[in-house]
Amino acid sequence: MDRGRIVHRPGRGTVWVERPAGGPLLLCVAGEAPYIARRVTDFLRREVRRDLEAATRRYAAMLGVGIKRIAIRDQTSRWGSCSTTGVISYSWRLIFAPPFVLDYIAAHEVAHLVEMNHSPRFWALVERLYPSMGKAKAWLDANGTDLHRYGEQEDDKRPMPTRLRTNGLHTGA
Ligand SMILES: [Zn+2]
Repeated sequence: MDRGRIVHRPGRGTVWVERPAGGPLLLCVAGEAPYIARRVTDFLRREVRRDLEAATRRYAAMLGVGIKRIAIRDQTSRWGSCSTTGVISYSWRLIFAPPFVLDYIAAHEVAHLVEMNHSPRFWALVERLYPSMGKAKAWLDANGTDLHRYGEQEDDKRPMPTRLRTNGLHTGA
């Protein structure tokens, strides 16, 4: 799979994404080293929240259900979760998944607002919201482990802040 990279660019600015033709996604971060980790995670959480909120509201409207809150968390063991109180949580690492995977995860969690289980009725609901769920599930089976390690940067030997490591964005240093 196409690995993303975090690249430190000297000078002013904040965080932006570059996608060179045919190359991996580059997340470029400017500024002083001690602030990089925070800037990266803040940026990623903002980006993924925007996409996931849109998808979640779209599917909730299709089912006519309400959402209390959408939370973006640093979950490493799961992509999303849904509480009985109507709070849907997602892992910010989904920012590195293709849009169709985000849509599937959102449909999955919204379906839990109706069926708090993985019964055949639940899966029928997910499929109604997101008909090509098989493709998304196959993608997650193939790439899920990599995705949880996303942001790893193999060619950068500079020591990075501890916070970056704790957020799973550790470098190869
Ligand atoms: Zn589930």
